[in-house]
Amino acid sequence: MSAGSIAEEIGIVVGTELTSVNGRVVADFLDWEFLSADDELVVEARQPTGEEIIFEIARPDGESLGVALEPPNVRRCANRCEFCFIEGLPQGLRKNLYIRDDDYRLSFTYGNFATLSNVKERDIARILEYRLSPLYVSVHATNWEARKVLLNNPRVPNIVDQLTRLAAGGIQFHCQMVVVPGLNDAAILEESLSDLWNLGDAVLSAAVVPVGLTQFSHLYSGKGLDEASARSLLEQVTRWSDRAVRERDDSWVFGSDELYLLAGKPLPDATHYGEYAQIENGIGAITSLRVRVAEGVNVLPRLDGLRIGIVTGKAMAAILPELVDKMTAATGARFEIIETENSLFGPTITTAGLLVGADIERSLAARADLDFALIPAESINEDRIFLDNVEFDHLCLRLPMPVYPSYDFIDVLTTDLLAAAA
Ligand code: SF4
Repeated sequence: MSAGSIAEEIGIVVGTELTSVNGRVVADFLDWEFLSADDELVVEARQPTGEEIIFEIARPDGESLGVALEPPNVRRCANRCEFCFIEGLPQGLRKNLYIRDDDYRLSFTYGNFATLSNVKERDIARILEYRLSPLYVSVHATNWEARKVLLNNPRVPNIVDQLTRLAAGGIQFHCQMVVVPGLNDAAILEESLSDLWNLGDAVLSAAVVPVGLTQFSHLYSGKGLDEASARSLLEQVTRWSDRAVRERDDSWVFGSDELYLLAGKPLPDATHYGEYAQIENGIGAITSLRVRVAEGVNVLPRLDGLRIGIVTGKAMAAILPELVDKMTAATGARFEIIETENSLFGPTITTAGLLVGADIERSLAARADLDFALIPAESINEDRIFLDNVEFDHLCLRLPMPVYPSYDFIDVLTTDLLAAAA
């Protein structure tokens, strides 16, 4: 419980099981969050001793109760997609990386994509009652038969029926289609986009993402996307987004950044992405970075003579020279793009944020000539640990220069950290 909170004051202690609120059963964090929103609460609970207790709570307007819940039991996925990234993870990583979650509650709370293939009637009722909107939905294909094949699950419900029912209750969606050549591109994708379009303003955005495979994707029997298929996929997406701009004044459907790179086509500018609804899904991340650098160079300090390494993956290495030129002109520093191959997932995974500690160490260990280095901030988690379990702070001790995790270069280059190096 938070110190000084209402929960602490009335005697809710660590380990207390909250069983009902105002007569409604609390099954999980979602029930608690919504049912405890009232200011007058009767909370039934079971204390760690086993004693049943009732708390009557009248809280001042808007004051938080200060109850900290245990992490929820995540709903596991019942599908077995051939392209599942988690199936494509190598052995020996942290246990929680192998959890295949498919949980509409996390979709609403954190923006995790869910297929809705495991939702029951009770869940639909909860989504509608609590107005869990928007949801992030892995549609992949609206064609029922194609979707069964894609999710490798003959029991998946009809997604169009599910979305239609939820939409009628006011729920909105951000959708994605991970495209597997030959399974859900071309006519199947046309059908998917048409069905989603027909759901009107219930579908806030639709992302088209090429299948991403690692060297461990042992289930996958199809092929990756080559340049020609990426181009035709992008043409299809562009035709739909042009229509959306004409008829709804919104791009609505987006190709992922990777799709543009695979197709060898320039990425759209910021107006195409609007509010970057699916930036976490790799939609518009590069354009957003360009914008942030273009704006940020105006406030960069002079760093004349410094040598700065930028560790990145192959995908971003192709984009960076134009940004580095801007930063060089603004600071006088010498930037070096250090393209690094992913040793854990293999060379097909070129995303900077998936580089692991061993890769960074390999690239920087012999670079005593650098004054400092920037690494992708996305490559470490909130505990500052890389996917291969290497701790960032330990890695720093082994490297011959200061290393800073950075989202957009500007974030680090404008800090006082650099005063020491300058
Ligand atoms: S829905 Fe498919 S891709 Fe997602 S976790 Fe389940 S098996 Fe993996």
